[in-house]
Order: sequence, then C-alpha cells, then structure tokens
Amino acid sequence: MSVDPRRAELAASLAAARERVARAELAAGREPGSARLMVVTKFFPAADLARLVELGATEFGESREPEAGRKVAEVRAELPDAVFDVDMIGSVQRKKAKTVARWARRVQSVDSPELAEALAVAAERSLDAGERTTPLAVLLQVSLDGDPARGGVPVDELGRLAEQVVARDGALRLDGLMVIAPLHGEVREHLAHAQTIAEGFRRDYPQARELSSGMSGDLETAIEHGSTCVRVGTAIMGARPIISP
Ligand SMILES: *Cc1c(COP(=O)(O)O)cnc(C)c1O
Repeated sequence: MSVDPRRAELAASLAAARERVARAELAAGREPGSARLMVVTKFFPAADLARLVELGATEFGESREPEAGRKVAEVRAELPDAVFDVDMIGSVQRKKAKTVARWARRVQSVDSPELAEALAVAAERSLDAGERTTPLAVLLQVSLDGDPARGGVPVDELGRLAEQVVARDGALRLDGLMVIAPLHGEVREHLAHAQTIAEGFRRDYPQARELSSGMSGDLETAIEHGSTCVRVGTAIMGARPIISP
C-alpha cells in the first residue's frame, strides 16, 4: 500500500478546520452548515487540490490566473466524476476575464463597473460556447477602509455597482458580498461593520445572501458576525511556498 503523508496531513488539517467552523456556528447560535468552508489552494499544486477533493472538500478558492485555470483543468481531467466548485477570490485583470469565466463558479472580487462588464461579456461567450451552463455568480468585494491597494469598492459606490451586475442578469448573478479585513484596527470591528453592510445590502438585493468573510486567523469572529463563507488557506494547506509550484 502506498503511503501519502501529504494526504494524511491535509486530512487532519481539513478536519480541524471543519471542527473550528462547527464550534463557531454553535457558539454563535447558528445553524450547522450555515457557514461554509472554502479551502484556499492558491500557490499549492493541483495534486493538493485533488487530495482535498478526495477528502470531501467541495469548495475552493484560487487567486491567480492562468495558474488557477490550469490547476482546475488538471483536477477535472484526473477526477472526472468529482463534484467541486472553484471561486476566483483574487483580483482579476480585465483581460483575464475570458479565461476566468471558463472555470470559475463565482468571482468574489468584483470591485469595478469595468470588471463587471468584462466578466459579463466573458460569461456570455462561455455560455454560448457551452463551456458553462450557469451564469457567472459574483460577489462584490467591499473595501472597509477605502485602501485601494487591498481592492474592493468603497461602500458608497456599492449600490451603483450592484445595479450594473443586476442589469447583466443572465450572464452574471449577484450572490452577495466579500470582504478582506484591513490589517490595521480591530478585526472584530471590521467584521461587524461588514455584517452591517451585508444586512443593509440584502434589504435592497434579497438574492445577495452570501457574506464571504473570515480567513485562517479570524474565522470564528467572522462566523460570529454573519459570515456564510470562510476562506481558509494557511490553516489547512500550511504556509504558502514562496515560489509558485
Ligand atoms: C489567500 C487568501 C485567503 C486565505 O488566507 P489565509 O490567511 O491563508 O487563510 C483568503 N482570502 C483571500 C482573498 C486570499 O487571497
């Protein structure tokens, strides 16, 4: 029998992360399964993604094109019957919209009208070509502090961007919001702020149920503050390699 130490390592860290999510849901008085665990596999090889699929993980986040597209294609070829989805969670250059629309279930990092339009055109093309069968779901990435380096749309421009996505219904589908907590200040305050924004947003767009917030270090706090999708990299994969494999 072949021994795969990496598989054992991932099995243990995946189980531990699931346990953290379950405990946080319980502590917050939330339904089990109301916060989903997304495994962020960026910088790790397709073989790790395949191992995690075999371990039962179903949602993944990737952040760089074209590496992401290649990895997804490799795993789909290797495990043709496996059911899993991959979201783009990193910033997307407009010229990469076309390839991202081929493999991404969702883009979580939509933060400008130009990017939304490029993704809509790309999704239409992919639908016409039979490369995808469902609209490209999008989350609008909200900037909690207006720092352009971290990406995200300022809160006061959120409504306009949402209208633009809704106008492209059929190509795009507005699923909700994504935030990355700023590095400065209190994480808890940032995540509570994100929850308030998401609640207000849902009053205008009831279909926008998703709030993607929380990472390895702050997933409990995020779940306490309404996260429906925590994006966990390091706590499951280990420290990211410096050079992309
Ligand atoms: C890398 C990344 C994560 C995962 O961060 P960890 O701290 O490693 O869990 C989550 N969200 C985004 C947008 C990322 O780029």
